[in-house]
Amino acid sequence: MLHHSISHWRRALTAGQISPTELVQELDAAMRSKNPAINAFISWDTEAALAEAAAADLSLPLGGIPIAVKDNICIQGQPTRCASRMLGNFTAPYDATAVCRLRAAGAIPFGRANMDEFAMGSAGENSAFGPTHNPANTQHVPGGSSSGSAAAVAAGMAIAALGSDTGGSIRQPASHCGVVGIKPTYGRISRYGLVAFASSLDQIGPVTQNVEDAALLLNVLCGHDAADSTSSLHPTEDFTAGLSGGVRGLRIGLPVEYTSAGNAPEVEAALQKAIRTLTEAGAEVVEVSLPHAEAVVSAYYIIACAEASSNLARFDGIRYGYRVPDSAGLSDLYSRSRGAGFGSEVKRRIILGTYVLSGGYYDAYYTKAQKVRALVAQDFTEAFKSVDLILGPVAPTPAPRLHDDSLTPLQVYLSDIYTIPANLAGLPAISLPVPRAGELPVGVQLLGPHFAETRLLGAAAALEAAWS
Ligand code: GLN
Repeated sequence: MLHHSISHWRRALTAGQISPTELVQELDAAMRSKNPAINAFISWDTEAALAEAAAADLSLPLGGIPIAVKDNICIQGQPTRCASRMLGNFTAPYDATAVCRLRAAGAIPFGRANMDEFAMGSAGENSAFGPTHNPANTQHVPGGSSSGSAAAVAAGMAIAALGSDTGGSIRQPASHCGVVGIKPTYGRISRYGLVAFASSLDQIGPVTQNVEDAALLLNVLCGHDAADSTSSLHPTEDFTAGLSGGVRGLRIGLPVEYTSAGNAPEVEAALQKAIRTLTEAGAEVVEVSLPHAEAVVSAYYIIACAEASSNLARFDGIRYGYRVPDSAGLSDLYSRSRGAGFGSEVKRRIILGTYVLSGGYYDAYYTKAQKVRALVAQDFTEAFKSVDLILGPVAPTPAPRLHDDSLTPLQVYLSDIYTIPANLAGLPAISLPVPRAGELPVGVQLLGPHFAETRLLGAAAALEAAWS
């Protein structure tokens, strides 16, 4: 019953068929019954949500709608732990701008969604609070790092959720769980109050049941924020109005590099289905080339780790984060607090990031990666001269099995190949579930030029309508 969209619940609320209090209670009951098997939520504060529900203003666009929030986005008075022992006792003293905007639109932040520690991962397995399970098959991962956000929406434990996407962390779990996830243009949504992983790549975005809900949330979340110096001044739009845009007459590019790369048959089938539907709906699907597609993973992991090593330096046990109870001096306190507070993937990235930023290697790795990043962005600028949108897979395979020890960290990193480019180039991209007979969901991805969210949503809505 909780698998309904925001617009469904808004109608029910305004018609008086259910009260905001009852809706929070329904979600609380769903969390209690389903979370033990899925582990999508690290915590939820029903009392706080009920207090907000009692005061909900139904005349506002999201009045009375509870929204789950990834554990790296600050909610005042609530634990904000980034699924890390490092922030085990941290309670946020303020709301992230995205959360302020949700509240101002009448929504109720409810539930701290599980994630890979500090948003580093692709499977949800790097959480200090245990892995999240894929609701479609609990033996499989839900994807990551916004594992809890996607799993909660897919399992009917949340109506919609906020996630964050640094290299695919909204789109890839959305694809693996069968829900919609959009990473907006870099700067569209304020990062103020999002715990930084890689600041030049991080972007907050919605995870929803359908495309219309993504538009409804973007209407509320987008817009300039003086508290984030990278926030864009680009005017916001009524994204809902663009939903009927469709694809007739659009040229949609299919990168040749994305189909020759050994994708799983399920992923290839989903892509072919999208091509057929787009063509039937009046779009022209043409080949494009992104010549530097092969270099994106290397460039991303150098840049993301470099930025992470700098951003996470503040968690030293003194200024922020876990502190060991006893220590034999300052450097012992630093190393043992960080040693105990961070999990192994976070440590791996801090070490790699520190290395690529160190005096002797800076030019060889970091500067080179930045040059590659510029080339990747240029590839898209060129491609968008001849096409309106780009179509591609989200990930090379459906959701892997949990605890698949046969995968090396490098193989896991390589699976981000289709999602990373949008972050490196700052582009908007949406992941949309493709209907299929198999058990595990598979999505496709549409990418657009900077600030072309309206076109992207219109095309995604056309695909969704053709498939429903
Ligand atoms: N899987 C990528 C990584 O591990 C993306 C993470 C993200 O988008 N937060 O870095």
